[in-house]
Amino acid sequence: MSWALPPAYGSGEDTNEQPAALPSGAQGGLGLITLDDVSKRYPNGTEALRDVDLDIGDGDFVFLVGSSGAGKSTIIRLLIREELPTTGHVFVDGQDIVRMRRSQVPRLRRRVGVVFQDFKLLPRRTVAENVAFALLVTGHSDEEAREETDRALMLVGLAPRRDHFPDQLSGGEQQRTAIARALVSRPKILIADEPTGNLDPVTSWEIIKLLVRVNELGTTMVMATHNAEIVNALRRRVVHLDHGTVVRDERQGLYAA
Ligand code: ADP
Repeated sequence: MSWALPPAYGSGEDTNEQPAALPSGAQGGLGLITLDDVSKRYPNGTEALRDVDLDIGDGDFVFLVGSSGAGKSTIIRLLIREELPTTGHVFVDGQDIVRMRRSQVPRLRRRVGVVFQDFKLLPRRTVAENVAFALLVTGHSDEEAREETDRALMLVGLAPRRDHFPDQLSGGEQQRTAIARALVSRPKILIADEPTGNLDPVTSWEIIKLLVRVNELGTTMVMATHNAEIVNALRRRVVHLDHGTVVRDERQGLYAA
C-alpha cells in the first residue's frame, strides 16, 4: 500500500512549482516550518505571541503545550494563514506564507492538514464524502478522489464505515474521519489542535497511536495539547508557551519542566 512509502507523502501535484524565494537574511529554509521573530496582536489589543522563533524540521513530531491562552491556537492559525502575524515571518516548506498571494492559500492548505478537537465534519455528508470533499472542490476527477479517499480511509482503519454519517459514528471514529480528511491531499504537515480533547482516555490513545504512525510514515506533526499523560509517554519534542512566549523547547520533553 503506497501510504507505507514515504515518497507518497508530500509528493504529488505541487512538486513542479517553485517555492517563493526567501528574502535575503531571513531565517527560513532551515526547517519545514520556521517562525522568525513572530509577534501577534489581535485587533482588540491582546498580544497573543511575542518574539517567537521556532524551527520545525521535516519529519519532526512537536507538542505545543501551555495553559489556556498561551498562544498555541494562534500559532496554528498562523501556519494555515488563517491569521497574519503583526510582525515577523512565517515560512512553510520554504515559502514565506505572510507575503504569499491570497490565490496561493488553498495550495498551502493542501500541504498543511488540520485536525480539530471538535472534528468539524459536515453532518449531512457520509464519511467518504467528508474525506473526498476537498479533492472534489479542487478539481480532481471522481476516480482520483475515490482512490485517494479509499487510501486515506484504509490508513485510519475506517474503510468499513465509509457510507456512515457522522452522527452514526463514535467520537474516535469521527476523529479518524477528520484525520483521513486532513491526509487525503497527502500534506507534508499535519496540525492537530487538541485532537483528544473530546475523547475518553482509551480512544485518545488509539488516536495518538494513529498520529504516531502517520508521523512515522513521513508527515511532520504539530500537536497542541493539554494531555500530560500522552506528552509524557511519547517523549517527543515539547515547545512550551507561556503568555505568548516560548519558555521551553526540549527534544524529548515532558509536559511540565
Ligand atoms: P491557546 O490556544 O494556547 O489557548 P490562543 O492562541 O487561543 O491560546 O490565545 C492567545 C491569546 O490571544 C489569549 O489571550 C486569547 O484570549 C487571545 N485571542 C485568541 N484569539 C483571539 C481573537 N480572535 N481576538 C482577540 N484575542 C484573541
